[in-house]
Amino acid sequence: MSERTLQPGEMRYNEPMSRHVSWRAGGCAARCYRPRDRADLLAFVQTQSAGMALHVVGLGSNLLVRDGGLDATVVLTHGALRQSELLQQDATGAVLEVEAGVPAPKVARLAAHAGLAGAEFLAGIPGTLGGALAMNAGCYGDEIWNHVDSVTTLDRRGVIRVRTPQDYHIHYRHVQLKHPPQREEEGPRALEPAPEWFLAARLQFARGSSSTALQRIRALLAQRVATQPLNQPNAGSVFRNPPGDYAARLIEACGLKGAREGEAEVSLKHANFIINRGQASARAIERLIERVQQQVWAIHGVALVTEVRIVGELA
Ligand SMILES: Cc1cc2nc3c(=O)[nH]c(=O)nc-3n(C[C@H](O)[C@H](O)[C@H](O)COP(=O)(O)OP(=O)(O)OC[C@H]3O[C@@H](n4cnc5c(N)ncnc54)[C@H](O)[C@@H]3O)c2cc1C
Repeated sequence: MSERTLQPGEMRYNEPMSRHVSWRAGGCAARCYRPRDRADLLAFVQTQSAGMALHVVGLGSNLLVRDGGLDATVVLTHGALRQSELLQQDATGAVLEVEAGVPAPKVARLAAHAGLAGAEFLAGIPGTLGGALAMNAGCYGDEIWNHVDSVTTLDRRGVIRVRTPQDYHIHYRHVQLKHPPQREEEGPRALEPAPEWFLAARLQFARGSSSTALQRIRALLAQRVATQPLNQPNAGSVFRNPPGDYAARLIEACGLKGAREGEAEVSLKHANFIINRGQASARAIERLIERVQQQVWAIHGVALVTEVRIVGELA
């Protein structure tokens, strides 16, 4: 199997998703496609029969595919939806239009270089804008949806829409369309909400100064290097923080730092991170997640909810 990067316009079969997720672990996608651009993505979606599951993936920095793999077509947005443009500038601020495959740190830099303030928090989130919108990614007191003017979406039939934040329930690390489009297919999944993906967003930021924003980006990145195990494969915070508390504090108080299942380990540097020490299986990572949940429940009576998304079949 080729180790070459999946090129725009290329389809691969049985593609190891470990190449496309930051945990560097897990099973294969039955099919994996990286579109050339937005028009190619639209044409691709329209040619896929309604019953064929599609799964959109950005940089895989919040994702685990189980070892038995994913019986779906994974569509990669990074390197595909990569346009960005500065719109509507005035003395108070500006709107950036950014496609979903653009990495969040690049959005932070684009905004800083345009003399805008408020996008710096995105610099340390190693996913795409689309993944950030899906997760309502955030840190240091800010979240992506605080800056969304509108989003452009694509549904399973190939219909493109412009939506506003009012169309969504927006919560901590969770975003849900209030009225999702209907599914086309019949069968057991017919009553589930049909998927709709982000193609792009218009993001609003206030006027600021480039040098201040760039300085803040450097400071935030240095803070991450000091507190997160960035030199080992991981997926950021595994669990959402429970109301009024921190998952990391609860996990550490259970004495779970350094706990292992196979090659998966609760980071010694940050207890809400699980690192892959080399050859961790997705099962080992998931077993460790379950063990942490059980112990935190037993000791603190708190049910930790995963922030990372786990998909696919057990081996
Ligand atoms: C070291 C590290 C630090 C991190 N720090 C933070 C942090 O500070 N704050 C934070 O919130 N997160 C953080 N994360 C988690 C992660 O980076 C974010 O959740 C990020 O927004 C995910 O983007 P992605 O492109 O990697 O999404 P993926 O992992 O590829 O996908 C995540 C989910 O989003 C869906 N999705 C992806 N693209 C689209 C799209 N275009 N339309 C619809 N759905 C889509 C996928 O189907 C999947 O369900 C961190 C991760 C790491 C590894």
